[in-house]
Amino acid sequence: MTEVAMQGPVVVLGGGLAAVSFAGGLRSGGFGGEIVCVSDEAEPPYDRPPLSKEFQREGAADKIRLDLSRAHDVQWLRGTPASKVDTQRREVLLADGRSLGYRTLVFATGATPRRLPALQGAPMPVITLRTLDDAQRIRAGLTAGARLVVIGGGVIGLELAATAQGLGAQATVIEALDRVMNRCASATLAAVVAQSHRERGVDLRLGRQVTGFDGHAILLDDGTHVDADLVVVGIGVVANDALARAADIACDDGIFVDRFGRTTCPGVYAIGDVTRQRNPISERFERIETWSNAQNQGLAVARTLLDPTVTPYADIPWYWSDQYDLRIQVAGVSMGDDEIVRGDASPGSKFSLIQLHRGRVVGVTCMNNVREFSSLKRLLGDVALPDRAALADPGTDLRKLLAAPRT
Ligand SMILES: Cc1cc2nc3c(=O)[nH]c(=O)nc-3n(C[C@H](O)[C@H](O)[C@H](O)COP(=O)(O)OP(=O)(O)OC[C@H]3O[C@@H](n4cnc5c(N)ncnc54)[C@H](O)[C@@H]3O)c2cc1C
Repeated sequence: MTEVAMQGPVVVLGGGLAAVSFAGGLRSGGFGGEIVCVSDEAEPPYDRPPLSKEFQREGAADKIRLDLSRAHDVQWLRGTPASKVDTQRREVLLADGRSLGYRTLVFATGATPRRLPALQGAPMPVITLRTLDDAQRIRAGLTAGARLVVIGGGVIGLELAATAQGLGAQATVIEALDRVMNRCASATLAAVVAQSHRERGVDLRLGRQVTGFDGHAILLDDGTHVDADLVVVGIGVVANDALARAADIACDDGIFVDRFGRTTCPGVYAIGDVTRQRNPISERFERIETWSNAQNQGLAVARTLLDPTVTPYADIPWYWSDQYDLRIQVAGVSMGDDEIVRGDASPGSKFSLIQLHRGRVVGVTCMNNVREFSSLKRLLGDVALPDRAALADPGTDLRKLLAAPRT
């Protein structure tokens, strides 16, 4: 173990998945020093993916709590925002006036949804979806027959629209671009997802922007309007990096970290949604807003603090999304100049997609094809592909194909 970790105290800002995973990783690795987690949420740590899915159907907060058994003997300060970090004195100031000294500081502060100023003052509830409280307020409005308007055709908005349809509400999704899931899905996947929503009755308006409201009507830039009982805004998030920026730590909508989670300030690390890290596939510094990144980067940074000789973090980014009975899994990046379609890429079918960029595999997607996902992920980064026709044939045994020598 390193001196830094051995000597503690370790202060973690944030109480989400990355924080819990990191604290659990330190304890599992044998760290016996003091760990303090500071969270501005009063709620004990919970998982966010169910907020747009199961939680809307079941409303059971106790089912989405994060398991804290690995993160034992952690001092939790809840409902307590950190308000300043003094990296010279190695001290965190809390909004309630207390201060905490640290030897190691970890930012796990996540991100905050963007708001839509055009809807300020609207008479119906206009809600973003990030917290359990947001999810509870949305759930209260998702009654049968309720008119839900989702602004933004990204993953969270589409998941919520799917859940709402299942609950008997009527969802309209307004997306400014001419396709859904622009940042995180190939055009082929996006088209299948869009059609799947339309087939289930979602009113999907692509290429439309919200200009304002008139009573309970949301006004669009083509002069039409959509009546709404409830509006959910899902137009992306910004990193909660203000404290790091104020402490002169390098940030650009996200705290820059290397593969050890190190920021530009000695003794200060960052993990999860708040980070801007090198994506091993695109080789660009990006924010990776996925459950698996929060979990695995948190664990990896704990490991490297305890033993700097371990392999640094370089996981391939991946996420899943559940919409209706569609289980979507995407790894790598969605850009590409070529695509291999394995199966029938149409609504209701199971299929996989392999995205290539200049001959290199940069992304894989599985639609209701969970068994193929881990095999296909192994192709990422490869330039020597297996036989293209065999890869495109869903009858080919993938494991045998990938094990065969390549040219
Ligand atoms: C509705 C929803 C559905 C999702 N579904 C999926 C999915 O299906 N698949 C998938 O891969 N990913 C999904 N995600 C993404 C995934 O949940 C996130 O990537 C992950 O939760 C990020 O964890 P985190 O710990 O980095 O950040 P967070 O969970 O945001 O935790 C950060 C915490 O820090 C707190 N904080 C911020 N500033 C301060 C401060 N100054 N002082 C103290 N505390 C502070 C915040 O309030 C928050 O509690 C979903 C996210 C949402 C919101």
